[in-house]
Amino acid sequence: MKVLVIGSGGREHALSWKLSLSPKVSRVFVATGNPGTQNEEKIININISPENIAGLVDFAKKEKIHLTVVGTEQPLVDGIVDIFENNNLLILGPSEYASQLEGSKGFAKDFLKKYKIPTASYEKFTEIEPAINYVNQNGVPIVIKADGLAAGKGVIVAETIESAHNAIQDMLSDNKFGDAGSSIVIEEFLDGEEASYIILSDGKTMIPMATSQDHKRVGDGDKGENTGGMGAYSPAPIVDELVNSRVLNEVIYPTLDALKSEGQPYKGFLYAGLMIMPDGSPKVIEFNCRFGDPETQPIMMRLESDFFDICYKAATGNLKNAEMKWSSKVGVGVVLASKGYPGTYQKDYPITIKEYTPDIKLFHAGTSLKNDKLVNSGGRVICVTALGNNLEEAREKVYSYINKNIFWDGMFYRKDIGFKALKKSS
Ligand code: ATP
Repeated sequence: MKVLVIGSGGREHALSWKLSLSPKVSRVFVATGNPGTQNEEKIININISPENIAGLVDFAKKEKIHLTVVGTEQPLVDGIVDIFENNNLLILGPSEYASQLEGSKGFAKDFLKKYKIPTASYEKFTEIEPAINYVNQNGVPIVIKADGLAAGKGVIVAETIESAHNAIQDMLSDNKFGDAGSSIVIEEFLDGEEASYIILSDGKTMIPMATSQDHKRVGDGDKGENTGGMGAYSPAPIVDELVNSRVLNEVIYPTLDALKSEGQPYKGFLYAGLMIMPDGSPKVIEFNCRFGDPETQPIMMRLESDFFDICYKAATGNLKNAEMKWSSKVGVGVVLASKGYPGTYQKDYPITIKEYTPDIKLFHAGTSLKNDKLVNSGGRVICVTALGNNLEEAREKVYSYINKNIFWDGMFYRKDIGFKALKKSS
């Protein structure tokens, strides 16, 4: 079978790698992939941008692709699934309609409110003055969000009235986030612990993936600006049995049922970014219509079942018969980033990798080849990922590998991935 994966980050490296391990898969094409995917057996990068949907349809037809898996959000929001299906091509992902859960924060918030799914209270604004008044009335901390896609950077958790006003100004007047910020959501600050809950649905049945926790802030101790994610581990002990059943009953089933009731059954991966409140109740911070990055990397390392089989069954409506086995080991992924990220950063520094070790997987994201030399070309560059018998062991493997083996000018990373789970176990 031939598979096409759409995207070029660490998530797509992990997804395409896992798909390529299936004995049923002869080839995985990745559009556009990166030097990491290029190095994998059975994987070929193709130079068609994820936004070029017509080009991807042509490729899938010409190459007789059996299944397309969409890793990244923009093509989903642009309706790639509807377009592929209209061309009789099998694809795993949600429709353009359902993808609005990620593509528009205003849509997601209204959906949550309509179906009484727990989330922070909020208001939507397109004008500065009422937004400023709302902040003045509600006080800080408060959260200001650009409506559209902004790669995890369109959210400001404002600790002072001044920074809240600045964020409103930046988004609504100075166009800092372009069209994504022409409408904003301002919402209540939730003080709890975050968890990522990802499920796979075929429109009728759903299977939860292993639980995980991301680290959104750029600095140790969850300090500094929001990023796309600086590291993740799986499983996340915050999601114990009780929390798990609350998430399913209060968030996942109501969401899937609501979409079904609208005649819009959800197919594909659905990611609920949750705040688990001190009393164990889950509240939705956001939905994503695809796997998380970097959660995918440790989750894929833990998956023992045939990933192609699962994706194929989900795409063809047969998930009921799928088996999902997870390793009891803990997976940890630490993101190596370029100095300056999530702001501007310098590119094209040569990356030194002294040694490869079999139990460490390097998932590439912002890397490129320049004159055959590996260089940094993005903010998040490589996610160093390993399994361990427990969190301490997995962390030790990852951090000692990084310390000894990998370097470029300006490389930085968080030194505390997993710190909340470690605190719980001590
Ligand atoms: P992603 O990169 O996951 O797509 P995003 O841009 O869609 O991110 P959100 O997930 O809505 O944005 O918010 C980013 C981060 O901001 C969250 O992971 C959380 O740390 C923080 N955050 C967002 N909303 C709230 C809230 N209501 N209370 C507290 N923190 C919040």
